[in-house]
Amino acid sequence: MPDNKPYEESVVQAAIALMESTRTLLAIHNDNDRLIYANDAYRGAFYLAADSDMDWYDMMRDNFVHRRGPVIDTRDIEQWLKYARSRRRKEHYREFEVDLIDGRWIHMTETVLAGVGMLSIGIEVTAAKQNESSLKDQFGRALREAETDQLTGLGNRRLMERLKRIFLHDENLHQLSTIMIDIDHFKPYNDTQGHPVGDDCLKQVAKVLVQSLRTEQDNALRYGGEEFLVLLPATSLSVAEEVGERIRHTIENKAIPHPTSEYGVITVSVGVAHVYADTPEYFNEVVELADKALYAAKGAGRNRVKSGTSE
Ligand code: GH3
Ligand code: MG
Ligand code: MG
Repeated sequence: MPDNKPYEESVVQAAIALMESTRTLLAIHNDNDRLIYANDAYRGAFYLAADSDMDWYDMMRDNFVHRRGPVIDTRDIEQWLKYARSRRRKEHYREFEVDLIDGRWIHMTETVLAGVGMLSIGIEVTAAKQNESSLKDQFGRALREAETDQLTGLGNRRLMERLKRIFLHDENLHQLSTIMIDIDHFKPYNDTQGHPVGDDCLKQVAKVLVQSLRTEQDNALRYGGEEFLVLLPATSLSVAEEVGERIRHTIENKAIPHPTSEYGVITVSVGVAHVYADTPEYFNEVVELADKALYAAKGAGRNRVKSGTSE
């Protein structure tokens, strides 16, 4: 109202009729947070009786007690209201989302005019919200798939690149141990048993690796054809050596027949290494060390564990 000229009666009537019938949630609270106007859409969402002028705090308390209206994630409603009071009316204008127990999502705006009151306007955004969460799910699934080796279900090199960055930036994970595992005489095994049997063997080895992981932070990756890399962040060399030996031992004990191997069964050679992951080069360094250790294990007769360290 630029010069305080009252609106024409017909405009006021039209505005009220429209406010009553719109599906947009509308409410006006006075400076003391007592309700002075709410349309049906607002009253419906917050379970206010047609004649109720209850203040905002009582309305929220009432909804909380009856487990209806907005989702209020607290055990102590008074504490929650105290926090809400500290935030309410602090700004002239704010926007936020409210999720209702009935599953709807409301995008709310609040406009405060001191001496006049507060106008709340809410529009339903449930469909957009569901779309957003389904897109997030799809993205998560696509990312997981892109980082997974199809044959074995282990992580692939792409996952390795991401973990590399995580380890580098998380000080708790800096003591990184790696175990490089390579199946012995896999080419003749493939050539004599056939590719599908070879694939099955790769899957069995992968399973042993997964079973050897101890924590959420440990990871087993397919590094190349018949070569695997186990990453053990925050792990000492001696513990990594134990894990490496357990892997070697478990695979040998599976006794998968390998007619042309000197051991008669599928075996693996294992290289273990350890670095302090605090420079960007650390990862290539530790993989190279594990690779050298693996090479030494091959040279020493296969089916054994060797280790190398940067310290
Ligand atoms: P070493 O003991 O020195 O490791 O000898 P090796 O025969 O295991 O090593 P080499 O690198 O000569 O052979 C690796 C073989 O792994 C060659 C290839 O046929 C096989 N291979 C690689 N990827 C796959 C795969 O996805 N499936 C199958 N079935 N075989 C694979
Ligand atoms: Mg091999
Ligand atoms: Mg190899």
